[in-house]
Amino acid sequence: MATFEYTANPARILFGPGTLDRLPEEVRALGGTRVLLIGSPRSAGRAAGLLGPLLTARFERPVPHTPVGVTGTALALVREHGVDCLVAIGGGSAIGLAKALALRTGLPQVVLPTTYAGSEVTAVLGQTDHGGKTTLTSPEVLPETVIYDVELTLALPAGRSVTSGVNALAHAVEALYAPQTNPVTDQLAVQAITRLGRALPRIVADPADLAARADALQGAWLAGTCLGSVGMGLHHKLCHTLGGAFDLPHAETHTVLLPHAMAYNAPAAPAAMSQVAEALGVTDAPRGVHELVVRLGGPTSLRELGLAESDLPRAVELATATPYPNPRPLTAEGIAALLEDAWHGRAPAAAGPPDLRPGGGAA
Ligand code: NAD
Repeated sequence: MATFEYTANPARILFGPGTLDRLPEEVRALGGTRVLLIGSPRSAGRAAGLLGPLLTARFERPVPHTPVGVTGTALALVREHGVDCLVAIGGGSAIGLAKALALRTGLPQVVLPTTYAGSEVTAVLGQTDHGGKTTLTSPEVLPETVIYDVELTLALPAGRSVTSGVNALAHAVEALYAPQTNPVTDQLAVQAITRLGRALPRIVADPADLAARADALQGAWLAGTCLGSVGMGLHHKLCHTLGGAFDLPHAETHTVLLPHAMAYNAPAAPAAMSQVAEALGVTDAPRGVHELVVRLGGPTSLRELGLAESDLPRAVELATATPYPNPRPLTAEGIAALLEDAWHGRAPAAAGPPDLRPGGGAA
């Protein structure tokens, strides 16, 4: 009989088209009277109008991977204007900055995601400094209120919808073989994979399809909830390492690496792979994800993301430097082969039969 633990993160979620209009009341509900609005002029324009007199200061240029220098600049604005509530509208970069400011000030946050990254429902914050990325987990960074206004995602271009959607898919896939796996996150993960798998082709066919956008955004919320509840393995570790050390684009890196990380782990996580395959309606999970990305026109090689082939040995070194839980034990040779396949954009190996050798991980 399985034993498990499950800890849920508190979150107030508003979901649906037009929910942006409720931003001022949500700010007031948190006691906010002086808001710092984080987000590009394009994404945050309507929010600024709705906030009216509550709007005290704006920060318009959030940066991926939350560099601490940028956080310092925004923190000066918070102090100078006596800000008492943070509002972020945008992708993981805008939300990451709000989380970094909340960590340093204890201020409440209302966030409005416009991508499928999922950061809004995790207590995790990644930050970069001097070319390295570190991650911390603290209840202080978890946004109090998340407003998922589906209409905000309509402008996300098809290509970015695919990469961001696969970023979400990765949270759900790795949740299914996490050490803390439990019936709640399993259900959320399968739902997330099902929704994302069926919505992304419809979004690519018609980015204005509101029903498909709602399906994908709900999938992203559920996938983000998985990311916030259980530990991630090889795939997230690789993306984190490559993103931080080589400044690779976040969602694109997830899109290239996911099928390869899945193929690496597949022999040691056969049950998780069956669940993914079933949710996507394919026979082989890693190949199914690869073929989905190809069909949707997403990136398939690290080369096209700008990683130099000469960086691969360093990437292997970084990815295997500190041990962490993963269904299949990590070997430098195995990770080198994985990264080489991903660099060239080769199709991943088929999942094949479970690895039943000692240390193979198939329990
Ligand atoms: P992003 O926020 O950098 O956005 C990517 C680009 O898309 C930007 O140019 C942005 O302006 C644009 N964009 C966003 N929404 C749009 C919309 N609706 N219409 C048109 N353009 C839009 O990218 P991201 O992938 O959402 O987030 C990546 C960042 O989030 C990374 O720093 C990553 O580390 C972090 N992240 C953190 C967590 C966590 O739990 N801590 C989880 C996922 C991602």
